[in-house]
Amino acid sequence: MASTVFFTDLSANYQGNLLTKLGRLMEAAGVKDVVKERDLAAVKLHFGEMGNTAYIRPVFLRKVVEVLKGLGAVPFLTDANTVYAGTRSDAPHHLETAIHNGFAYSVVGAPIIIADGLRGKSDVAVEINQKRFREVYVAAEIARADALVSVAHFKGHELAGFGGAIKNVGMGAASRRGKLAQHSTVSPKVKKKTCVGCGECVKNCAQQAISLKEKKAVIDGDKCVGCGECIVVCPTGSVQIQWNQSGAIFLENMVEYTLGVLKGKEDKSLFVNFVTDVSPGCDCFPYNDAPIVRDIGIFASRDPVAIDQACADMVNREGALEGARMKKNRNPGEDKFRGIYPSVEWEIQLEYAQQLGLGSRDYTIEKL
Ligand code: SF4
Ligand code: SF4
Repeated sequence: MASTVFFTDLSANYQGNLLTKLGRLMEAAGVKDVVKERDLAAVKLHFGEMGNTAYIRPVFLRKVVEVLKGLGAVPFLTDANTVYAGTRSDAPHHLETAIHNGFAYSVVGAPIIIADGLRGKSDVAVEINQKRFREVYVAAEIARADALVSVAHFKGHELAGFGGAIKNVGMGAASRRGKLAQHSTVSPKVKKKTCVGCGECVKNCAQQAISLKEKKAVIDGDKCVGCGECIVVCPTGSVQIQWNQSGAIFLENMVEYTLGVLKGKEDKSLFVNFVTDVSPGCDCFPYNDAPIVRDIGIFASRDPVAIDQACADMVNREGALEGARMKKNRNPGEDKFRGIYPSVEWEIQLEYAQQLGLGSRDYTIEKL
């Protein structure tokens, strides 16, 4: 059955600016059925890596917060720590980055809680019993929230083709070991050339899986549980993820994680996608390249599959912008994501998500 995706373009006037339109969009998509009074509502977003400027503007999050507070809920903004060493790989740095990028309480009107804790180790194992994972590791404070509002910046993505609601929830709400499990089936590896033998990774490995041999770190794959701690503590960036998952498997992993994050919140979740500043790559990069298509608008739905399908279709309907990175598929109707990442079969995330019952690829658009 087709799901409804609500949409507003970016036209505005005295009767309605983009903030009021966002509020109306959430209302139309049924936000009042998702949260009730006193619900602790996780607003899952990406605060943007330091240096990136394509993430969603904080004032839009303030509107989301206002809508939720207006319904008596208690919203908090949240994301989980990264698996790579960057400006969001532990809670203090993550909070500093968020504030640096404009998400201060005085702007957004709600506190920020980093959902997997100080070092990305706070998670909840959720049983899903699917073909790729028996259980998945969901960032604890998202798992424990009463409701989830995903506010995703829809853009291209180097591994997933595009990143939207499914990726914001499946990858974004996974704890560090959950993220690593989606990317790799083997332990991280040490780049011997740059390892200076400082022993930081040895000290921080709770499994005692790392030792120093001839002043170089060595990881015992049998003891490693894939928590990712050594990756983020290494001062020289010498511990690296072995990206051994094929594209298709990575996408299925991400979808199974989405299933796990949404388990128990099937009626308590809402998805908002901003198709604006449509950068070719993830907001995890400390930069964003020129946008690939024009700003299209804001979408909202109760169905994470339908909303991502609708956004992908809308992007592909556009012609590429001057300065956009892709060399081919630049014309209206051509696949923009394959234009940038020719080998990524992005449809897999939608098809597999539909297969797992997360939603429908069939949708109808209701324009406000
Ligand atoms: S933390 Fe990095 S540089 Fe230090 S021993 Fe481990 S791998 Fe080598
Ligand atoms: S990933 Fe975690 S368990 Fe594995 S070696 Fe690194 S710190 Fe140890």
